[in-house]
Amino acid sequence: MKKEEIVMIHGTDYVQMTLKLLEAIHLDEIIGDKTKRIALKPNLLLDDDASNGAITHPELVEGVLLYLKKHEFSNVKVMEGSWVGSRTSRAVKASGIASVCENYHVPFYDMQKDSSYPCDAAGMPLHLCSELKTTDFLINMPVLKGHCQTLITCALKNAKGVIPDSEKRRFHTMGLHKPIAHLNTVIPHGLILVDNICGDLNFEEGGNPVVMNRIFACLDPVLCDAYVCESIGYSVDDVPYIRIAERLNVGCADTSKAKVTMLNQPMNDQTNSHATGRVRKLEKYTDARDACSACYGSLIYALERLDDQGTTRGKREHVCIGQGWKDTAGEIGVGSCTKNCSRHLLGCPPKALDIIRFLEEYWQ
Ligand code: SF4
Repeated sequence: MKKEEIVMIHGTDYVQMTLKLLEAIHLDEIIGDKTKRIALKPNLLLDDDASNGAITHPELVEGVLLYLKKHEFSNVKVMEGSWVGSRTSRAVKASGIASVCENYHVPFYDMQKDSSYPCDAAGMPLHLCSELKTTDFLINMPVLKGHCQTLITCALKNAKGVIPDSEKRRFHTMGLHKPIAHLNTVIPHGLILVDNICGDLNFEEGGNPVVMNRIFACLDPVLCDAYVCESIGYSVDDVPYIRIAERLNVGCADTSKAKVTMLNQPMNDQTNSHATGRVRKLEKYTDARDACSACYGSLIYALERLDDQGTTRGKREHVCIGQGWKDTAGEIGVGSCTKNCSRHLLGCPPKALDIIRFLEEYWQ
């Protein structure tokens, strides 16, 4: 797998999807030596169920552990520290990840109980949790979601789970962006496995999950987060820590260089039945017929940004989306399936940022 690659899989059997994805990218060759000490780092910021859009699905952790077992990697652990105010010990149980670790006889390390050591992160003094010292290969497993302060959170920000609580508080006093970027200069980046199953629309703590039913893998945390920005309707320059990390040589933020491979096509699995609060309100602008979650989720993210800036005010049109529009004419549509609409945006699925530009032009 090359640094510019992003490999994606769609579906609803998350354990099998994870296995297939890791086989496709040959994770065993990326890790190399079987004796390497491997750490999985999910996002467990609070005690909740993954379906609410805040934390990593336990099925992804199970898929990775199954893969590592099959390929005879035996020095494996899971580690995480919840956000300040929540207890990791409770979060890991509530998520189901504690049971997965037990079933696979893999230790879980609570970073809120770990000691720490000082380091120089590209000129910024920081403290890291001691477990990092005994990690050769990190599998970073963030949730792709919105964030009320930094707009997005994914690979780079998930690294905050391996610093002590005192550092997390200090990060907030320093404005988050700069310390997040510097932290990533001392993280042993191995693989990034992104949980893009149902991350939240706007908030780190979940509550408005946007179902997209996909998982993707990449090696470059900067490219990963840059791609995430465009996937949920922001430009890379909206999120300062990405550009700072790029300047610190953590990775490349040029999404035009990203090579995205889809192992399968999105499926027409979209259903409105689980939509809550804000997402349900945005659905009034859509006319979905057999839409794929990945496509529909992109439209929901785009509508949220447009609604925020007032562009949807007074608009009565419904945006056509889904495979059910393939042979049907409509007024305005998003996704290649709606090519019979008078105005349409191609893409399968299109990115939220492209949908925003398209609808802005149409509505203004
Ligand atoms: S364009 Fe059609 S097939 Fe492609 S993701 Fe959208 S709904 Fe699915």
